[in-house]
Amino acid sequence: MTARILDGNALAQRLQIELAEKAAQFTAQFGHPPKLSAVLASDDPASAQYVRMKRRDCKKVGIISETFEMDASSTQEQVEETIASLNDDPRVHGILVQLPLPPQIDEERALQLVALPKDVDGFHPINIGKLAMKGREPSFAPATPSGCMELLKEAGVNLSGANAVVLGRSNIVGLPMAMMLVKANATVTICHSRTQDLTAQLRRADVVIAAIGRPNFVQADWLNEKAVVIDVGTNRIDDPSDKRGYRWVGDVDFEAAVKVVRAISKVPGGVGPMTRTMLLVNTIRAAWRQAENA
Ligand code: NAP
Repeated sequence: MTARILDGNALAQRLQIELAEKAAQFTAQFGHPPKLSAVLASDDPASAQYVRMKRRDCKKVGIISETFEMDASSTQEQVEETIASLNDDPRVHGILVQLPLPPQIDEERALQLVALPKDVDGFHPINIGKLAMKGREPSFAPATPSGCMELLKEAGVNLSGANAVVLGRSNIVGLPMAMMLVKANATVTICHSRTQDLTAQLRRADVVIAAIGRPNFVQADWLNEKAVVIDVGTNRIDDPSDKRGYRWVGDVDFEAAVKVVRAISKVPGGVGPMTRTMLLVNTIRAAWRQAENA
């Protein structure tokens, strides 16, 4: 048996057509497009590349974007002043603080400053808190787990009562993912580096979300034939046969797992494009809400 491949590129493209229509409607109605502002306060080339990709995505659907490139030696006060000025600018609908911030910046304090209606990354502690609480909804949910939820919807998974195993407990992926799955009525097990007998947890899982950053770590014989697997891991490995000398792989041994499980997302081309698209979804939602409440 070969698993169904969950194609994040195709799903993202479909969603982006709808987003472009919503952005065009917004621009026609309010006379200016939705706008996303990114704060980049690091000299990490990967962070700069992520911000450039996000800006390209914005352009595709008709969101205008700008980047505040700050020196990696910026002070807490300078970063906070930039966030405060974006909070006050009525033309800015979404604020993205690119993580990680340099070590001298208190990330928690900086994220807490982002105005809730503009917190399109969903990392404000109030939004994360609401995500964890029964009967409360955050203004925005983080993009990567939201993208995983869309892929699960696309796979036609009935999450109610399903055994879901989340591998990883980071603030940006594993934890919010687990909270979203609980809200969708799944029975959730969170596994991490101290988990004992990980394979036993995985073998009984109907849904597996792998977000640990370990190339090809999850083996096919740890998974069952009913499992739907979403691979968040994005790991660069050396590959002399590739002209770049490297390639990207996930946390799951895809080549073996695809022969065993019911459905699986690819790396690249699975969660990555969906993460980027969910940021656009949040930005357009933010713009409409702010304009309607003005
Ligand atoms: P992270 O902050 O490093 O967290 C990794 C998590 O995995 C931690 O909770 C850690 O456990 C757990 N872990 C590490 N080794 C493990 C092992 N051998 N067994 C079980 N658990 C283990 O990473 P992250 O930011 O969540 O990212 C995870 C992966 O997703 C990375 O490859 C990253 O590049 C990728 N990612 C992709 C996207 C996308 O859009 N495609 C977005 C974000 C991240 P402890 O808590 O016990 O240390």
